[in-house]
Order: sequence, then structure tokens, then C-alpha cells
Amino acid sequence: MRSRTSNAERRTLNVERKTTNPEETERLGESIGRALEPGIVVALIGELGAGKTTLTKGIARGLDVPDLVHSPTFTLIHEHKGRLPVYHFDLYRLDTIEQIEDLGYEDYFHGPGVTIVEWAEKIQSLLPDDHLEIRISGEDDARDFTLLATGPNSQRILSRLAA
Ligand code: ADP
Ligand code: MG
Repeated sequence: MRSRTSNAERRTLNVERKTTNPEETERLGESIGRALEPGIVVALIGELGAGKTTLTKGIARGLDVPDLVHSPTFTLIHEHKGRLPVYHFDLYRLDTIEQIEDLGYEDYFHGPGVTIVEWAEKIQSLLPDDHLEIRISGEDDARDFTLLATGPNSQRILSRLAA
């Protein structure tokens, strides 16, 4: 995966990570956050309790957000200020795709910040072609993370992460 990887191989590069406790997941998130750039959309997929919010907290920390306070509210979009603006979509309570269209989601995706989407599968058809998909699975305290780049920008993030 160093220098002689072809473009085709690069496009399909995915990164696997395992954690065994929430703190480790936050640290993984932090390393992802440090690698992010403006305009990247991070799509988190995994069932309730998988660790999406835990990872998001770490990502926010890696983006120098002082403290990602995540109170359980009906707000779908939370905005934070770090070294970049951080838009955190928590779509757990999203019932219809129109709800997120009404909130002007595109302005976030193409804005100056990074967007992190929990329950991204609910808006799969709205996600930009190029996004960083992170699937989380596991049981007990073990978690498997599969990071998949779907375009050149997300690929650059993954390459940085894997370096
Ligand atoms: P989600 O946002 O996907 O619903 P949360 O991050 O809110 O999930 O919750 C994850 C839960 O799983 C927390 O209670 C956390 O303590 C627990 N947990 C146990 N092991 C891990 C791990 N390795 N990574 C993340 N969370 C873990
Ligand atoms: Mg959550």
C-alpha cells in the first residue's frame, strides 16, 4: 500500500480496525478526525449501541472540538466548532427522507466543514458519491470497524489513516 499501488487498487482500499473498549474507539475516532478535510462526509452504519456516537466523539476530538456534548434531543443536526466546523447528523429519529431534505442537508455536505452521519443508511441515496463509509459491528466489548472510501477525496483520507 506504499507507492506502487495502482489507481484501481487505491479506489478499493479499505481499512479494518478493531477495538476492545469505548476509549479505544474514541482514540480511533480521534485519528480519523485528524485526517479529515473540509467537505468530507463520514457515513456511520451500525445498529443501536454499535459505537457510532462514541466514534463521533473521538472524531470531534481529532477535529479539536472542545467537548461534543450530545444530549438526547429530537434535533437531527448538531453543529460544533473545531479546527473545522463539524456537522453531526444523528438520524436515529428520522422517519422520512423528506425530513432531512427540509433541513437543507446539502448545504452541510458541501459546506466548509465535515459532516458525520449516524444511521447513514437511512439517507443512502442522498449521500454524495464520494464519502467515507464506516461500518461497525461486534459483540460484548469488541468492535470491528470497516472503513471504505467511495471516491478520491475519501480515499485520500483513508490513505493518510493507513500510512
Ligand atoms: P450508537 O451511537 O451506535 O448507538 P453508542 O456509541 O452510543 O452507540 O454506544 C456504544 C455502547 O457500547 C456504549 O454503551 C459503550 O460503552 C459500549 N461499548 C462497549 N465496547 C465498546 C467499544 N469497543 N467501542 C464502542 N463502544 C463500546
Ligand atoms: Mg448514537
